[in-house]
Amino acid sequence: MSAKIIDGKAIAAEVRERVRQEVASLAAAGVRPGLAAVRVGSDPASEIYVRNKRKACEAAGIYSEEHPLPEQTTQKELLELVLRLNADPKISGILVQLPLPKQISERAILEAVSPDKDVDGFHKINVGKLTLGEATLAPCTPLGILALLDATKVEISGSRAVVVGRSNIVGKPVALMLLHRNATVTICHSRTRDLPEVCRSADILVAAIGRARFITGEMVKPGAAVIDVGINRLESGKIVGDVDFDGASARAGWITPVPGGVGPMTIAMLLSNTVAAAKMAVKGG
Ligand code: NDP
Repeated sequence: MSAKIIDGKAIAAEVRERVRQEVASLAAAGVRPGLAAVRVGSDPASEIYVRNKRKACEAAGIYSEEHPLPEQTTQKELLELVLRLNADPKISGILVQLPLPKQISERAILEAVSPDKDVDGFHKINVGKLTLGEATLAPCTPLGILALLDATKVEISGSRAVVVGRSNIVGKPVALMLLHRNATVTICHSRTRDLPEVCRSADILVAAIGRARFITGEMVKPGAAVIDVGINRLESGKIVGDVDFDGASARAGWITPVPGGVGPMTIAMLLSNTVAAAKMAVKGG
């Protein structure tokens, strides 16, 4: 069997077009969604992410502004900026690029972002709402994963889903979303016993580990939908996922490539969340 490719670029383009149309209809009502991206220090990868996010905002008609701060910024200074952005009516969504330098507590900053502007879905109020299954701003990468699965028309309800990785930004929230969609979910991590066997039970396998080509073909159930979240740079400079693409695609029914799978969806969902936050602000105000 040779897996069908889940084309994240094409699906993300559809999401971005839907967002662009929503932004246009909000403009007719005098509302313009706005995203503020805050970045501390000069990590080249973060600079590229933030630049790409800004470009995507512009293409969708979303107002965007960037706040690059020096590496030695204090927690107090960053908190002051976040509070200013919370109060700024031009801004519907605030994104604080992680990681932050060690003098700053990430949790303190994430909790300072207004839950209504928390387009990353990291505030504990939004995490709590997601856990309860209430409508909320949810993390972008997991939202993108669900959109990719929906595009395949693979039945989530009743399926066995295995998520490898239990981070707060990917593994846990995607597991919750799959659970809310009535999958039977297993979450694996570095202490999981018999990982290959657990993975082989999965109709839906999500790999969010951060280890190049860790999931081999033998760990994939024939016909499974495989979502590869990992972004790993090899010494050669090549970017690969957490899944051995060649081995896994010989067995899977569906598979996401890296690059061109989950990555483009994360940005598309950030735009979608920014518009959702702007709409909530209109309703609330
Ligand atoms: P974290 O490092 O926070 O979490 C990695 C998880 O993998 C942990 O739960 C860890 O287990 C688990 N793990 C590590 N080694 C093993 C192992 N040998 N067997 C089983 N589980 C293991 O990573 P993130 O969730 O932040 O990111 C995961 C990957 O996804 C990275 O490559 C990252 O770059 C990428 N990513 C991609 C995004 C995109 O837009 N495409 C967005 C976000 C992330 P334990 O908890 O026990 O340590």
